[in-house]
Amino acid sequence: MSKHCPVVLTIAGSDSSAGAGIQADIKTCGAMGVFACSVVTAVTAQSPGSVRGIYPMPASLVMDQIEAAISAFPVAVVKLGMLGNLATAEAVADFLQRSNLPAVIDPVLKASAGANLCADSAGIDSVVAFYREHLVPLATLITPNLQEASLLLGAPLANSHLSYEQQAKELQMLGCSAALLKGGHSLDQRLCTDYLAYRDDDSGECCVQAFSAARLQTPHGHGTGCTLASAIAAGLAQGLTLRQAVAAAKNYLQNTLMNAERLALVPNNGPLHH
Ligand code: PLP
Repeated sequence: MSKHCPVVLTIAGSDSSAGAGIQADIKTCGAMGVFACSVVTAVTAQSPGSVRGIYPMPASLVMDQIEAAISAFPVAVVKLGMLGNLATAEAVADFLQRSNLPAVIDPVLKASAGANLCADSAGIDSVVAFYREHLVPLATLITPNLQEASLLLGAPLANSHLSYEQQAKELQMLGCSAALLKGGHSLDQRLCTDYLAYRDDDSGECCVQAFSAARLQTPHGHGTGCTLASAIAAGLAQGLTLRQAVAAAKNYLQNTLMNAERLALVPNNGPLHH
């Protein structure tokens, strides 16, 4: 692989509507000049606004794909999206621990359409507990939306009227290097603000930086979370600092949202366009 084309390994679910999931990851990395190796954890059947079916891959097949990619490509950064079930989450956590690679973890638990994307007979609480105890501490960055943040923080904290800045700090204190709390689902009609909590290199203090963009009123935003996390992973693979990568990713996402509005491929819940 050329020195000039860094590699991201994305481990995520397939979205047949191609706005979110591994399709979003590959498009994003490609558009940003980064090569994406792609490990499929689950196949989903989706049309705009609805998830019709979810078919998780066996964890052993997920691991085979990871080993195949890692044995041949100089992977710089790993990006996790939908994992599909607990067995795969466990196998992936074990891989991250062994490889010690930087990891951007999007804790994908539910689709905007409501479907549970980490369905497991053990129940959502076990999946959330596994993320909190085993995956989050391995992350360079986690990128929860507001709903995922309240699942990770637990109801008492999420309902305690903590500011978004404080919630971002609480998320970082779960043990990851940094946490980006995404404000896309906030009630602010003017701005979409994400809060990055990270440890300052010199003081060791937990700092928070806000990243704002004008809120675009569009019915087409399917795949925003996957696209933002992939764009950050791509920026990190290219050698940007975390804060530079978040700023560049936010900028990239804004453009894909504007393109989606122009494309208007379907009446509602259309895919981002790269
Ligand atoms: N489908 C897959 C495979 C995903 O990975 C995700 C999000 O990460 C979604 C759907 C959810 O996308 P949205 O929340 O935009 O519906």
